[in-house]
Amino acid sequence: MQELGIKPADASVKDLGIEDGKAYWNLPPQQLIQFALRAGQGKLTNTGALAIDTGEFTGRSPKDKFTVKDEVTADTVWWNDFNIPLHASKFDQLYRKMINYFNGKEFFVRDVYACADVRYRMNIRVINEYSWSNLFVHNMFLRPTEKELTRFVPEWHILNAPGFHADPAEDGTRQHNFSIIDFKRKLIIIGGSGYTGEIKKGVFTALNFVLPHQRNVLSMHCSANIGKDGDTAIFFGLSGTGKTTLSADHDRKLIGDDEHGWTPDNTIFNFEGGCYAKTIDLSEEKEPEIFHAIRSGSLLENVNFKPGCDEVNYCDCRKTENTRVSYPIDHIPNIATPSLGLNPKNIFFLTCDAYGVLPPISRLTPGQAAFHFISGYTAKVAGTEEGIKEPTMTFSACFGAPFMPLHPTKYAEMLSRKMQQGGVNVWLVNTGWSGGSYGNGKRMSLKITRALITAALTGELSQSEFESHDVFGVAVPKTCPGVPSEMLNPRNTWSDKDAYDHKANFLAEAFLKNFNRFSSYANKEILSGAPRTKVHV
Ligand code: ATP
Ligand code: MN
Repeated sequence: MQELGIKPADASVKDLGIEDGKAYWNLPPQQLIQFALRAGQGKLTNTGALAIDTGEFTGRSPKDKFTVKDEVTADTVWWNDFNIPLHASKFDQLYRKMINYFNGKEFFVRDVYACADVRYRMNIRVINEYSWSNLFVHNMFLRPTEKELTRFVPEWHILNAPGFHADPAEDGTRQHNFSIIDFKRKLIIIGGSGYTGEIKKGVFTALNFVLPHQRNVLSMHCSANIGKDGDTAIFFGLSGTGKTTLSADHDRKLIGDDEHGWTPDNTIFNFEGGCYAKTIDLSEEKEPEIFHAIRSGSLLENVNFKPGCDEVNYCDCRKTENTRVSYPIDHIPNIATPSLGLNPKNIFFLTCDAYGVLPPISRLTPGQAAFHFISGYTAKVAGTEEGIKEPTMTFSACFGAPFMPLHPTKYAEMLSRKMQQGGVNVWLVNTGWSGGSYGNGKRMSLKITRALITAALTGELSQSEFESHDVFGVAVPKTCPGVPSEMLNPRNTWSDKDAYDHKANFLAEAFLKNFNRFSSYANKEILSGAPRTKVHV
C-alpha cells in the first residue's frame, strides 16, 4: 500500500481494510485537476474551471438511498419513501465488496469538516475513486489547515465509488447504484453514481439526524446571509426555488447556500464550506456573483461548450437541465467568515409556483408558517421537453423530505419555537410564475424577486398596507418599492379571473389533501394556517 500526500503519521487506509493500491491523501486542487485531465475525465474552460461529466446520473437518486435499520435508527427514523430501511448484514456485504473494489487501485482520500460552528464540528474522511469527486469534497466542505490535516481524527467515513455496481439480487438494493447511511458505524457508502450531490446530501442527512436528535440544534435546508446591521436572513426552499441565487446578494454577506444549523443560543451556522449552484441559463448580467465564481478550482458538471471552443454554453441543456458548479465559498466576493450569523430576523419560504397562484410575496402568521413549512410546496416545470404543459407539484416536508431522517414535526416544532421566541418575520415568496400558469404567464423576473426580498429585509415592506388572500389567507402587501403594485396581487395579473380562482382552488385542495398525513400531529394554530377553498360561483 502506497500512501502519498499530507496525512496524520499513524493514519492509513488499511484501517478501513484497503490493503493494496495507491492512496493520494489531501492533494491540492491543482493536482486533482491534473489527474482528471490526464485520465481524460475533464476539460478546462476558458475561465480555468474543470468541466466533467458525472456519467449515467446527473441528479440524485432518492429511490436508491437507504438507511441501515438497527437499534440506533429503528425507533427514531421516520421510515418512508425517502428513508428506506436496509439490513445491517446487507450493508456489511456491500461495504466489503467496495473495499475489495478499491483494493489495488489508485484513489483519493480527503479529510474535511462539516459545521462552521466548532462546537458542532463533524470530522469526515472521504475516499473517492475519482480525483474530480475529491475536488468536489474539497470545494464543498470545510477545509482543515495543513497542520490540522496532520492530526485529523475522523468521526465519519464516506466511500464513494461511481464505477462500483451493486448486484441488486444479492445486495438488497433496488438497482446497481446506491447511497447508504449507517448511523451506528458512522459510514456512508455511495456506489454506481458519479453525481456529486449524493456525497453532499449524504452528510446533510447525517447532520439532520445527529443535530436535532442529539444536540438540540435545528438543521435546515436553507441558504443564509447577513446584512450590514448584523441581521441574518434564511431562505428555505426545495431544489430550483432560488436558495443559491437569492442568497448571493452584493449588499449582504453570504453565510451559506444550502444547509444550516440554528443553535439553542440563536446562532446560524453553515454546514458546508462551498456552494453548489445551478448553471442552466446562467448569465453574468443576472447572476454576477455566481458567474464570476466559476474559475480555477471550480468544478462544472455536465455542461456543454460553444462549438469548437472552451467557452461554456450555459443555455445548452442537452445532457441535463441540472447542470451544476461547485466552488469554495470564498469564490463569492462578499461572505461572512467564519460562516456564522446571529440574530435571525427574517425567514423566507421560497416556492417556485408554476401555477402562478401564490402572491410574489406575502407575510405569514406563526400558524401559516408552520403549515407551509410542514407542507413544503413547490411546482416546477418538468424539464423543457416538448409537449410538457402541466407543472408538476411537489410537497416535501420541511422543504427537504429526502434528507430528513426524523419525523417532520420534530423539525417543525423546533422552528416554531425559535421563530416565536425571536420574533422573526416569515415571508412566502413565489419565485415561479406570474400572470398565468406555465404556458400562459411567465417566470417572475429575478429583478422583481430581489426587490421584494430587499424591501422585506429593510423593513420597508412592513410599512405597506396588507390585504388577506381570499384562498390562502396570507397577508399580501399593496405596495413595494421598485415593484409595480398591480403585480403584487396575483389575481390582478391574470386576464381570466375565473381561471385564477379555479387554479387557486385547485392548489388549495392539493395543499389540504397533502396535509391530511400530518393533521393528527397539528394543533389548532397550525390548522388555522391552512388555505380555505373558495366556493365557485
Ligand atoms: P438546489 O437546492 O437544487 O441547490 P436552489 O434552491 O439553490 O436549488 P437555485 O440554484 O437558486 O435553486 O436555482 C434557481 C434557478 O431559477 C436559477 O437558475 C435562477 O436563475 C432561476 N430563476 C429565474 N427566475 C428566478 C426568480 N425570480 N427567483 C429566483 N430564481 C430564479
Ligand atoms: Mn442551491
